Amino acid sequence: MSYNEIIKKQSDFFHSNKTKDIGFRIGQLKKLRSLIKGHETVLSRATWNDFKKSEFDTYTTEFGILYHDIAEAIKKLPEWAKRKSVATNLVNWPARSYIIPEPLGVCLVIGAWNYPYQLSLSPLVAAIAAGNTVILKPSEIASATSAAMAKMINENFPPEFIFAVEGGIPETTALLENKFDKIFFTGSTAVGKIVYQAAAKNLTPVTLELGGKSPAIVTHDCNLKETAKRLVWAKFLNAGQTCIAPDYVLVDETVKDEFLLLLKEFIKKFDYSFANHNYVQIINERTFHRLTALIDEKKIYFGGETDVQNRYISPTVLTHVTFDDKVMEDEIFGPVLPVIAYSTIDDAILKIRSRPKPLACYIFTNDSIIKNKLLSELSFGGGAVNDAVMHISNPNLPFGGVGSSGIGSYHGEAGFAAFSHHKSILEKLFWWEPDLKYPPNTEKKLSWIKWLMGR
Ligand code: NAD
Repeated sequence: MSYNEIIKKQSDFFHSNKTKDIGFRIGQLKKLRSLIKGHETVLSRATWNDFKKSEFDTYTTEFGILYHDIAEAIKKLPEWAKRKSVATNLVNWPARSYIIPEPLGVCLVIGAWNYPYQLSLSPLVAAIAAGNTVILKPSEIASATSAAMAKMINENFPPEFIFAVEGGIPETTALLENKFDKIFFTGSTAVGKIVYQAAAKNLTPVTLELGGKSPAIVTHDCNLKETAKRLVWAKFLNAGQTCIAPDYVLVDETVKDEFLLLLKEFIKKFDYSFANHNYVQIINERTFHRLTALIDEKKIYFGGETDVQNRYISPTVLTHVTFDDKVMEDEIFGPVLPVIAYSTIDDAILKIRSRPKPLACYIFTNDSIIKNKLLSELSFGGGAVNDAVMHISNPNLPFGGVGSSGIGSYHGEAGFAAFSHHKSILEKLFWWEPDLKYPPNTEKKLSWIKWLMGR
């Protein structure tokens, strides 16, 4: 079947109105949940094959998040999908006003490889909940997971409802030549621009979940030990191949040395290795070489061991880094952590603001004035105070970027909204209406209108 034929079939199925039924949507979400549960072993084997991601990490960062997402959608969908009454203003009285969430239609979901199941299936959950049909294109970079996921989907869902397409740039380019009702993309800012341009041709709405250099700011008065522990976990999870990993740390110069010692202590303690399932491989050799080229040997504070055969880069902390260094140009997306000292918080703010708006920002402080200053003066997608990465796990927090780090958001109700149109309705009643808007237009009517509208 060509892409065009699948889209046509999905469009016909969408217009059969089956997906508009809330019971149907809940049934499909339950089906997806039991499919994932039934395929856990196969899917876990695939993440191990792709980049030695362990069963533990695959559960905590993929299946667990998906089960949570699905449970949340099943529980709250009847409320999210309800028509919502809003007040009617005096000008329109007597009337009712309400908003009807409606599905958009045929959606294209393009996934990234780093959390292959979560980043493909979590948007799928939101799209199903909102009542759409979906063509899913997982990332070809994690080829085993892409194959496992596509097989699971295509063997269990009819193509007119959900269909997985495997492939890379040529397949995605061909897909993007078609008209969709929504495109949901997760990936790099560079490819996000290509997707946005393709969507613009048809005025297709997009959600773009992109990347960026997400800073962590560590002030002198925070709990340094806890901070180091949380940052080490957040940075080296998935070997730093996390869109919201702290990309670099800005630390108050007065506590920099102590902080570096603590980072080293926790990296040693967490004993990152494939053997004990605490670490993953770099996804491919190309990325391995890109990352090793970012490690300036003279600036290694800790780590720096590499092994191309195993695509292994040990957790690496760099010090004496400046904003002009190569490692500070683009998102690192790997286990390399530059630590930069700052002398004043205003200086740190200026440095962060001189770059594109990041996807995340992490503020470690016990000083509420500094916390509020940073929260108000820095623009970023989302983040955490005294923690890192974990904000993604709360479905009540819409997840997405701003500026170069993305457009739109999802998770929980925000995901439902991303795949819905909110249709606004004014419902007039017949029994009475002032005749102010109808000709003849008189002075008296105008003074009434001024009173009604100009207040
Ligand atoms: P990528 O942009 O290379 O690929 C993403 C998807 O786009 C893949 O499915 C790929 O097949 C497709 N693609 C690649 N090149 C294309 C092209 N020229 N035309 C059309 N489609 C193309 O990203 P990636 O390497 O998979 O992921 C890494 C990036 O994604 C990082 O920047 C990371 O921060 C970001 N990311 C963001 C989030 C988020 O939720 N905001 C999550 C994960 C990753």
